[in-house]
Amino acid sequence: MKNILSDLTREELTSLVLSMGEKKFRADQIFTGLMQGKRISELPLPASFKEELIKEYENAAVEIEEVFCSQEDDTKKFLFRLSDGNLIEGVLMKYRYGNTQCVSTQVGCRMGCKFCASTLQGLIRNLTAGEILGQITAVNRYLGGTLEKRAVTNVVLMGSGEPLDNYANVIKFLRLLSETGGICLSPRNVSLSTSGLVPEMEQLSEEGIPLNLTVSLHATNDEERARTMPIANKYKIADILKACEKYFERTKRRYIFEYCLISGENSDLAHAKALISLLKGKPCHVNLIRLNVVKERALKAACEREAQAFLETLTRGGISATLRRSMGSDIGGACGQLRASKLKILQEDPNDRKE
Ligand code: SAH
Repeated sequence: MKNILSDLTREELTSLVLSMGEKKFRADQIFTGLMQGKRISELPLPASFKEELIKEYENAAVEIEEVFCSQEDDTKKFLFRLSDGNLIEGVLMKYRYGNTQCVSTQVGCRMGCKFCASTLQGLIRNLTAGEILGQITAVNRYLGGTLEKRAVTNVVLMGSGEPLDNYANVIKFLRLLSETGGICLSPRNVSLSTSGLVPEMEQLSEEGIPLNLTVSLHATNDEERARTMPIANKYKIADILKACEKYFERTKRRYIFEYCLISGENSDLAHAKALISLLKGKPCHVNLIRLNVVKERALKAACEREAQAFLETLTRGGISATLRRSMGSDIGGACGQLRASKLKILQEDPNDRKE
């Protein structure tokens, strides 16, 4: 695989352009063009310069391979092809305040969560910053969005992969995403979901990137959490909560917990009460999701009635919570490589919620 040109910041592009004997303004043309989702061959540059660039850089970091459109709602599922042939997934969901895109941060994942389809084949490789960004620029262009009038308004790092296991590339991506003159999305419109990598969560709180931090909790004590999430053997819930608290102190952003309701595992009222004791008084929100059954796994989803009862118990117990609705369920199965599960897990930004 050649290098990825959209990995470069505007400053890095300027050094590159100068080192190739070109004028400085070419860096801005490249930056703008890439942010518009263009391939190198489509940039407004002299043909000879483009040829030189393509010798060292991939013409396109991310190409849309296939799009699945839901008939039930406006959800679209994208299959992307990377320049080395790897495939990754993404979803675009329409909400009343805009379009939220779910992006992948790794090809596969090494966290090994028992309920998740992304980790079945382990980690293939990390995505580069430009490959994470490329999913957004490609979809924005596909939808007819521009840099002035974006079609993608919110981003969630909830596709395949553990974002904090690809820390440096994800941070670079977040900086590129908000860079002036580019796609220019504020971190406030970005949610990062993690299985709870405590040292990286702490590091993130020092980066000065006030995004919405989401933690996949899925259990109320370490022992039960370790049954479905191997990472629980490494990091304790108490330390995750401390890292969340630090994040709140630094950013003043309310943090979010994902809690996936699995029948016979974590979804009865005793668990709801344990969750209240754990989170009572904290500046957090809980996103409940009924498990999306992954056929390779034995786990079963909690039924709708149980999920509603869990939600009511939390709410009565003073915990801010929502039960995620399913979107695009008719296209989840259409995609062989990727799983229906991904379509239900996207979240709205509770900081924007009016309720
Ligand atoms: N690795 C990160 C982000 C990717 S997964 C993390 O663990 O948070 C995004 C969310 O989907 C996580 O909350 C994850 O636990 C959840 N998830 C994965 N598989 C699921 C399934 N089958 N049903 C419901 N939620 C699932």
